[in-house]
Amino acid sequence: MPQVAACAHARPCKLGVACLPPTSGKQVLVDRRTFIKATGLPVGASALGLGTSIGAAAQATPRAPVVVVGGGAFGAWTALHLREMGHRVTLVDAYGPGNSRATSGDETRQIRCGYGDRELYSRSALRAFAAWRARQEEFGVSLMMQTGRLQLAPDWTPGLRATQATLGKLGVAVEAITHDDLRKRYPQMNPEGVGIGLLEPGASVLRAKQAILAVAAAFKRKGGTVTIARATPGRSQGRKLLDLDTAGGDRIAAEQFVFACGPWLPRLFPALLGSKIQVPGRDVLYFGTPAGDTRFSFPNFPNYSEDRCYGFANIDERGFKVCTTTGAASFDPDTDERIVTPHEVRRARAYLALRFPALKDQPVIETRVCQLENTADEHFIIDRHPDYDNVLIAGGGSGHGFKHGPVIGEYIAKRALGEPTDAAFDQMVRLSRTSAR
Ligand SMILES: Cc1cc2nc3c(=O)[nH]c(=O)nc-3n(C[C@H](O)[C@H](O)[C@H](O)COP(=O)(O)OP(=O)(O)OC[C@H]3O[C@@H](n4cnc5c(N)ncnc54)[C@H](O)[C@@H]3O)c2cc1C
Repeated sequence: MPQVAACAHARPCKLGVACLPPTSGKQVLVDRRTFIKATGLPVGASALGLGTSIGAAAQATPRAPVVVVGGGAFGAWTALHLREMGHRVTLVDAYGPGNSRATSGDETRQIRCGYGDRELYSRSALRAFAAWRARQEEFGVSLMMQTGRLQLAPDWTPGLRATQATLGKLGVAVEAITHDDLRKRYPQMNPEGVGIGLLEPGASVLRAKQAILAVAAAFKRKGGTVTIARATPGRSQGRKLLDLDTAGGDRIAAEQFVFACGPWLPRLFPALLGSKIQVPGRDVLYFGTPAGDTRFSFPNFPNYSEDRCYGFANIDERGFKVCTTTGAASFDPDTDERIVTPHEVRRARAYLALRFPALKDQPVIETRVCQLENTADEHFIIDRHPDYDNVLIAGGGSGHGFKHGPVIGEYIAKRALGEPTDAAFDQMVRLSRTSAR
């Protein structure tokens, strides 16, 4: 049986082995199965570069208490990583992790590495693929389906060329498909007006809501606490936040606080984020596929995307997903009703009539209404609150944050604890940037 050395080296262990605290000052050896059982760590955790988590997770004495406010993709993964690092962690969510008001509470989200020239996100997505695979094995839930993603455009654009170049550089499969070949390969699609299709065959769809529920369940299983409450910053002393106030009148104290409140961030910190994060609404429509027709169902058609619309094939028999890229300019995630507008249904149907004519008269069989939390440059915002040394803000997912959950959660956890992180990524997601690429 393979064995790992258990030792008390500085973190991360310079020897590159998994560390456990010494029991009697002597180095001991534990077999891998015992080690995973003891730490509660995922299969393949060390392969993901989570070695620093391994040692801390097994600490007998809990480390400083941390509170994470917000149980979406950013907050739930952060809470899980902090817990695995051995901290006492409370995850506070107003409606519960994975709730249907949250941006992460929708049914499906895409994971792909194509990001134009934004290579840091491509690299993060690549790591996220491995993490999602390991985590779905650990959680025992099927969360990821390899669908492929087809980007359609009238002609090559700088963005498509940059995606092709970056994916090539990172060794991610990508294929350019001409108009004629699109017609042959996807006879269920009318490629009129499309000159080029860029296919990322490894791209996949994640079962988003189920994933967040699974992360929250793992967090609780590993000793984390989930509290349902709306929280706001409470008392402070100098540059230190002492506690949170909850709408129920309780106070929650901690040493470190992470606010990962997605589209609620601008109202929680209006002076700081009111002008930096916009919250528009988006209608998501699922059109029925014709009876007995599997041409529009997973795995027979990939995720598709072009300027006007994007969507996924029929997955989990929910219907063919169409999202228009327009919607309410401003959306209240607490109080607005989640009812799609006739205008967006008409837009989606007009798109189907052109691109997928066999679906144009099919009924809408399910809908969702989500909101985005967009920054001007679509970079995330992950940074210290300028007034508090122990408060980290994490959000600004800008329509692409979900996939990064398992990687960004580890990153946010390290930032909250003041551990070293990638300096280029830190710069890219800083609060005070004017613009960055
Ligand atoms: C239509 C649409 C399609 C998208 N497609 C993709 C995609 O294909 N791939 C992708 O990677 N990303 C996609 N995204 C983006 C992605 O969904 C978001 O970036 C991500 O889900 C944001 O997660 P979050 O944790 O920041 O916010 P949320 O998921 O909104 O979580 C915030 C949480 O904070 C809680 N909360 C808020 N305020 C408080 C408070 N005061 N006290 C306690 N709790 C509080 C809320 O209840 C909520 O649970 C899409 C977004 C939209 C809208």
